[in-house]
Amino acid sequence: MFEQLKASIVGRLILPEDEGYNERRKVWNTSIDKYPAAILVCKDATDAVAAVRFAKEHNIAVSIRGGGHHVAGTAVSDQALMIDFSDMRKVSVDTERMVAVVEPGVTLGDLDAETQKFGLATPTGTVTETGVAGLALCGGIGYLRGKYGVTSDNIVSVNMVTADGELIKVSDQENPDLYWAIRGGGGNFGVVTSFEFKLYPIGPEVLSVDVMYDFEDAKQVFKNAQAFVRVAPDEVTFNMLTLQMPAAPGVPESLHNKKVIIIAGLYAGNKEDGEKAIQPLRELARPISDNSGVVKYTELQSRFDLAAPKDVPVYGTSLYVKELGDTEIDILVDKFKKAPRASALFQFWECHGQMNRVPSDATAFAVRDAGFLLCFDIDFTSEDEKESKGWVESIYQALLPYSLRKTSYLNTAPANEQLTIDTYGENVKRLTAIKQKYDPTNLFRHNHNIDPNK
Ligand SMILES: Cc1cc2nc3c(=O)[nH]c(=O)nc-3n(C[C@H](O)[C@H](O)[C@H](O)COP(=O)(O)OP(=O)(O)OC[C@H]3O[C@@H](n4cnc5c(N)ncnc54)[C@H](O)[C@@H]3O)c2cc1C
Repeated sequence: MFEQLKASIVGRLILPEDEGYNERRKVWNTSIDKYPAAILVCKDATDAVAAVRFAKEHNIAVSIRGGGHHVAGTAVSDQALMIDFSDMRKVSVDTERMVAVVEPGVTLGDLDAETQKFGLATPTGTVTETGVAGLALCGGIGYLRGKYGVTSDNIVSVNMVTADGELIKVSDQENPDLYWAIRGGGGNFGVVTSFEFKLYPIGPEVLSVDVMYDFEDAKQVFKNAQAFVRVAPDEVTFNMLTLQMPAAPGVPESLHNKKVIIIAGLYAGNKEDGEKAIQPLRELARPISDNSGVVKYTELQSRFDLAAPKDVPVYGTSLYVKELGDTEIDILVDKFKKAPRASALFQFWECHGQMNRVPSDATAFAVRDAGFLLCFDIDFTSEDEKESKGWVESIYQALLPYSLRKTSYLNTAPANEQLTIDTYGENVKRLTAIKQKYDPTNLFRHNHNIDPNK
């Protein structure tokens, strides 16, 4: 059956019996072990067109792989045709229009590396191997969110293959209904073959926040961080990471196995003004260490590359809260103390400034009134899988009554129907209508799915 597809592409079609099949079907989260019917390693947009037309004609589902980093592993699925963009990694910078033109296999590291040659950046996320495509279509929360919003707010246009197999342009002028939907609606509406993102002057050097606190002081740190978010200027954005330091070479012995909170952030503006603006983050409690100062933007963006799980099975989820209040803090501190594995990681991403200023119905990305996004991840082995997953679930359930309308960040959450509906909130109706118009048979369903039949 696949001979017909093979004859119409410029990329490579990999079938289960072919060399490279097992390597190509792998995604970041190794607990995902799916066997696609075939993998089309695209060389250009025409391959994506051929894939969609073929899938439609033969009534097989497609899955789409950007950087393969979604924790739920939606980039790959049993018996589906996997459209693999990992060989399409070109970035071009247009300094006149101040946009980056980005292929769908580009990673955050690829994008920053190219734009930083011009002292420019678009808001993305952290950890350089993460794919831009999945991240941008579902939000994209990084160190520039306070000043410039989430990544999807900065999509100028995309080229996209619709479920009909047509390659179209989507922007505020062309197909504006899709332009609204793809800015937060994920991979529900088509296969994006190219993005244009807005660029801003950032770097090459920036003022970064890099402070470590003792987990013993967690309550004080979280409380003061919450107080700061209420008054923080747009230019200051920070993440808080709660983790147990490894007993590894390069880590001072005094920190071996110690539970700590790391504040990592950025001042997106004039460095001199920044010193004063970031000061409160350096005084949340008594720091163990403080390496805040001027660094390369690319260095800040890759700071946690080594800390991110790699080649391991991972379980994780997230939820938004309006505030880090006393109850939420008590739950979080208690749960982290009871982590079943040293690899447990809590990440708290504060939400303020431009990312919250965009009206929730201006794009599909609906959650614009959170104070913090709380993400919980743990890797596991076959021996402690149940306990580790149970621990993550117990945190989620304990915090759910205090969450913001039961919303999650879909880029860091399981592909769960109710969660998707709750998170899109008032935007679900409009998303469903657009899905019915462009993908009535739900060809694009391996994602946080908007069901066209509901
Ligand atoms: C280590 C790590 C660090 C992270 N850090 C951040 C962070 O700082 N900020 C943040 O916001 N998120 C972060 N994330 C979450 C990240 O946003 C998601 O994992 C996101 O899905 C990554 O995109 P991807 O292209 O790698 O995903 P993939 O797994 O390849 O794709 C996920 C889904 O996106 C859709 N998709 C992908 N490509 C296309 C396309 N070309 N056309 C249409 N649909 C497509 C599909 O539905 C696909 O199933 C992180 C994740 C990891 C694992």
